[in-house]
Amino acid sequence: MILDIVTYPDPRLKEPCEPVGEITDEIRQLAADMLETMYAAPGVGLAAPQVGRNIRLLVMDAAGKDEPRQPRVLVNPQLELSGDDVCSEKEGCLSVPMGYRADVMRKSRVRLRATDLDGNLIDEEVEDFSAIIMQHECAHLDGMLFIDRISRLRRSLYETRLKKWIKRKSAV
Ligand code: ZN
Repeated sequence: MILDIVTYPDPRLKEPCEPVGEITDEIRQLAADMLETMYAAPGVGLAAPQVGRNIRLLVMDAAGKDEPRQPRVLVNPQLELSGDDVCSEKEGCLSVPMGYRADVMRKSRVRLRATDLDGNLIDEEVEDFSAIIMQHECAHLDGMLFIDRISRLRRSLYETRLKKWIKRKSAV
């Protein structure tokens, strides 16, 4: 089932999420729905708060356009950042309206600890695009968006455009 995506400035996106306790059928169904929603959007990652659930769960797929799908579900992910500073060019977010994109500084490598939907422990070094997606999605679990990491000037320009856009939309 395709879920509704919560968009900024919805306050639910600012709340830190609670750890997932037991992995129930409901959690498995939610993960499946989140993947379906992400692919339909289309996007490369989606975190539970983006569909209105305040839990530490995310889905992602870092496969290139011509590659077969590589869906991943991460439960209670934790990242240790390492490697070089890299510029994530024109980063966007399914929860940030108007298709807004901006360059964001990220780390090139992370150590990921999480569990999968079967409760298996994941502990791996991740690089490049996957590492950037994980940083973006894990930030959602802490109530942060990529627009919290851009310059104050860019942010205020965006807020101004967004306010006008929301006003126009609600006038229709
Ligand atoms: Zn996002």
